[in-house]
Amino acid sequence: MSYFMKTLSKILLAVPLLCCGQDLVAQDMDYVRSVVKTLSAPGYKGRGYFGDGAKKASEFIAGEFKKAGLIPLNQGSYYQNFNLSVNTFPGRVDVSLNGNKLVTAKDFLVDASSPACSGTFRIFPILRSDLANTSKILEILNHAAEHFILIDNRKVLAETAEQKSAISRNLDVLKSDPSLKIKGLIIYSTDKLTWTTLTEQGSRIVLHVNRADLDPAKLTQIELNVDAELVPEYSTRNVAGMIKGSSGTDSTVVITAHFDHLGMLGKDVYFPGANDNASGVSMMLSFVKQFSKKQPKYNTVFLGFSGEEIGILGSRAFVENPLVDLRKIKFLVNFDLAGTGDEGIKVVNATIHRDRFQQLVALNAANKLLKKVEPRGKACNSDHCWFHEQGVPSFFIYTQGGIAAYHDIYDRAETLPLTAFVPFFRLMDKFFNQL
Ligand SMILES: [Zn+2]
Repeated sequence: MSYFMKTLSKILLAVPLLCCGQDLVAQDMDYVRSVVKTLSAPGYKGRGYFGDGAKKASEFIAGEFKKAGLIPLNQGSYYQNFNLSVNTFPGRVDVSLNGNKLVTAKDFLVDASSPACSGTFRIFPILRSDLANTSKILEILNHAAEHFILIDNRKVLAETAEQKSAISRNLDVLKSDPSLKIKGLIIYSTDKLTWTTLTEQGSRIVLHVNRADLDPAKLTQIELNVDAELVPEYSTRNVAGMIKGSSGTDSTVVITAHFDHLGMLGKDVYFPGANDNASGVSMMLSFVKQFSKKQPKYNTVFLGFSGEEIGILGSRAFVENPLVDLRKIKFLVNFDLAGTGDEGIKVVNATIHRDRFQQLVALNAANKLLKKVEPRGKACNSDHCWFHEQGVPSFFIYTQGGIAAYHDIYDRAETLPLTAFVPFFRLMDKFFNQL
């Protein structure tokens, strides 16, 4: 074969690949990775409220909606404002135990409910098992007034159900009963540190400590400087845009993903939230791109929600003041945790919308896409919840398997595998086309 023919056949072979195969996917995955990387970057401050990280994320999403030509849903604007209250940690977060300085978010977390606390205090350690014994607790409380109690909460074998419930009841009292005189609580365990974010501030500071080289029985002194500020009326916003469908009907398909995460713990530590939920946002934005190039049959509404991590508040605000007629929603799919997939996907509300779930299973099998498509019942654990409560047919779908990072500083873009992102996207594309 001549050089010319060789070159020509190479070009001819390359054409189908360029048109619909690997190259297109590689390009799309570059976009997906760049979205995850952008939203998980330090400048987005964990997409919380202190430092306006969630606000910045909403601007990014609105920018992508605009680029794709989406119709703004709120009187010419993509934004829908609402207020929430949030306990923030805007300043110092320094903790030392017996002179050992702890590393924030690696060795310890400040419970999201905590008020500020500074000073040096004595520590009174007790065992988890002591929490089942009320007279023992009262005795310790007598000594520990204005100081800290440390609970060695490491797993113990052979706890009866009765003991378990007494322990958790008494632990709650120690954490939050305002009438107790103790200054703070240290909960020492070897469990993974998992953070959250809350709308309220409790009575006393609670620290979750996991540092194997410190013997909890020997800890006698805590020195700490923790700033906390409850912001009662923080204004945040959802992002809402639409692509018109070709059918001409007012039936609407809705694709949602929350863009907020846990924000910051102090000035330096942020929670990247790559899987939770930069990944879901990148899935939603992939469909923004897809449907802006290839018009969908039905009007398709894209909703980026704020306030999910703090109590599913953004989607609640939307359902209370809907920018689309909820009765016209043909189907809603919420993406939250789309970044793994080694074990396929789980579908919340599968047992309610059985036919739709069977459709997903059949499409997956016919196209050999994901390892598993598993059903789950109703669960009010993400933004689909309020829609479901209003009778909107909806699925919440999340990927399974892969990394264990969740609500911690290790949920990073660099280590997010995105293992099954392409087959997941293809499955959902086929599903949306079949609605
Ligand atoms: Zn989430």
